[in-house]
Amino acid sequence: MAGRIPQQFIDELLARTDIVDLIDGFVPLKKAGKDFQACCPFHDEKTPSFTVSQPKQFYHCFGCGVKGTAISFLMEYNHLEFLEAIEELANKAGLPIPQEASLVKTDSNLSELYELLELVVRFYNRQLREHPQSKRAVDYLKDRGISGEIAKSFELGFAPPGWDNLIQELGSSEAAKQRLAKTGMVIKRDNGGFYDRFRDRIMFPIRDPRGRVIGFGGRVLDDDTPKYLNSPETPIYSKGRELYGLYQARHANKDLQRIYVVEGYMDVIALAQFGINNAVASLGTAATSEHLERLFRATPEVVFCFDGDNAGRKAAWRAMETTLPLIRDGRQAFFMFMPQGEDPDTFVRSQGRESFEDTNTYLALSDYLFDSLKQNTDLNTTQGQARMMEEVIPFIRQMPDGALRKLMVRDLANLVNSDSDYIESALGSGTSARRSPSRPVRRQQNSGSDNLIGRMISMLLYQPDLALRLDDYKVLEGVPVAGVDFLLELLQLIQSNRGISCAGILEHWRDTRYEACLKQLAASNNELFSVSTNLEAEFDDALARLLDKKSRQKLQQLATGKLSSLSEEDKATLRNYRKTEEKN
Ligand SMILES: [Zn+2]
Repeated sequence: MAGRIPQQFIDELLARTDIVDLIDGFVPLKKAGKDFQACCPFHDEKTPSFTVSQPKQFYHCFGCGVKGTAISFLMEYNHLEFLEAIEELANKAGLPIPQEASLVKTDSNLSELYELLELVVRFYNRQLREHPQSKRAVDYLKDRGISGEIAKSFELGFAPPGWDNLIQELGSSEAAKQRLAKTGMVIKRDNGGFYDRFRDRIMFPIRDPRGRVIGFGGRVLDDDTPKYLNSPETPIYSKGRELYGLYQARHANKDLQRIYVVEGYMDVIALAQFGINNAVASLGTAATSEHLERLFRATPEVVFCFDGDNAGRKAAWRAMETTLPLIRDGRQAFFMFMPQGEDPDTFVRSQGRESFEDTNTYLALSDYLFDSLKQNTDLNTTQGQARMMEEVIPFIRQMPDGALRKLMVRDLANLVNSDSDYIESALGSGTSARRSPSRPVRRQQNSGSDNLIGRMISMLLYQPDLALRLDDYKVLEGVPVAGVDFLLELLQLIQSNRGISCAGILEHWRDTRYEACLKQLAASNNELFSVSTNLEAEFDDALARLLDKKSRQKLQQLATGKLSSLSEEDKATLRNYRKTEEKN
C-alpha cells in the first residue's frame, strides 16, 4: 500500500506538516526542555512520558513504547489506514494527492485490476439471481438462515458450474484473459488457454479497508473439497494482511468498540444476520501481527473465537503468542471457546446473540495464558513453580510496559508464591524489551563495528545534516563491516534530500524490515547524545575508523598476495604499513 503514493510526495507532506501542531490539536502539549510533553494518549498515566520532538518530527512514549511520525500518529490515534492518514495530512496541508495524475503511469495496471474485480463482483451477483443453476446456492443460503438483505450487504454471488463462465464474460481478448489471470480469478493452463478458478461455488468478495475488491473466497455447495477456496496471492491481495469483513464492520459501526475474529466467511455472515456486525475472518491463515495491528487500529478490543477442539486450542495458543507483544494500554484481547462441535455460526443460531455477546464467558489473554499453563503444572511443588516461572517469563518479556504487564507480573508472583520485585528482577536478567527512562539502553562506545554503524545511524537520525560532512558517500563502499550497505543508502537519501527530518527518513523505510529498528534508534538517540557531545567530531571520527578498516583490509589482502604480482605502488604501501606496525 505504501508504494502507491510517491515517496517524494510523502517527503513534501512531512516537510509541510509540523508534528507538534498536529498532535497538539488532539492532545494538548506542554513545552518541556527542548521537547513537548503530555500524558500519553495511548496508555493510562498520571505523569507525562509522551514526548514530541520538533526537530525530529517524532513522538515517543517512554511508558508504553509507542513511537513514530505524524503519519503514524494519525494512524494510531484516529485508527486510520496509511492512505487515510496521508489523505488527512494532505487536506490539512492543502496539498492535492497526486493519485490520478502521476500514479496512473506507475500504477495503472493495479487500478485496472481493482476495476476488473468490481466487474467480477457484479457478474457473480447476477449469476446468483439469474443463473438457471443458482437455486442450489440460494437454497443453501436460505438453509443457513441468511436473508436477502445480508446476502446483498456482503455482495454474495454465485460462480456457476463450468470451466469458462467468467472467461466468456470478461475475457474477450488475450490481454483481458491475462488481466483476469493477474487477479487470480482464472488460471493459465500449461498447454495454453485459461480456465475459471472458482466453479460451482458461493462467492464472497473480499474488500480492503478502502473498500476496493482485492480477491474472493468461494465455498462449495456439496461435500466437495476444498470446502473453501481463496484467491491466491496477487499484486493486490495478501492473505497475511487482509481480513474478511473488516470493511463491512467499519462501515456498519461508526465507533467499533470490539471486533470478533472468527474462522470462516459464513461465521462472519451468520453473526451479521443476528445483528453482530463486528466480526472478521482471517483468510485461511492464522492471525498475523499485521492483521492484529490493523485490528487494533480499528478497535480497542479484539475477541478471538475458537472451536473448543484440539485444533481450536492450538490455534488459540498461536493467536496468544502473536498478540502478547502487541498488547499495551488501550488494547485488550479476549478468547472465547465454542462448546464442542459448535462454531460461531451454529452457536449464534442455537444460543442467540445474547449468549454470544456475554462477556462473562470471555477469557482475558493473561487468564488464558495462565490457565493453559496451570493445567500441566503442579503449583504446590517448588519444581512446578519454577517451571511456571520459566514458561511465563519469556512471554512477559515481550510485552511493552503497561497495566497488563504489571498485572501479569503480579499474577505470576501470586502463583509461584513470590513477590513482584522478585519477578521483575528475574525479568531483568534476560534480554528485555522494556524501555524506561530510568534504564536507558546505553550503547557502549568502541565496542565493535556493528555498534559503530548503529551509532552512526543513530547520529544521522538525530541530526541528518551530518551526512553532508561527507563529499562522496561512495568512499564507504566496500568497508568490511555489517550494515554498511544500509548506512550508504541512508547517506545517499539525506544527501539527495537536503533538510529531510528524522520522520522523513523513517517514512522511507515504512513497512520494511528496518522500520522497527530505525524507530527504536530514533526513540533512544536523545539518551545517547547529551548536549555537550560534539556530534560533528564524533561522526568524523567514526567515518575515519570505517575508512581505516577498509584500508587495513586492503593491506591484509596485499600481504597475503604474492609480492611479485603487486604493483610498485602497492609494494610501497605495504612497506610503509609494516614499518608503522613495527613501531607500534
Ligand atoms: Zn504511552
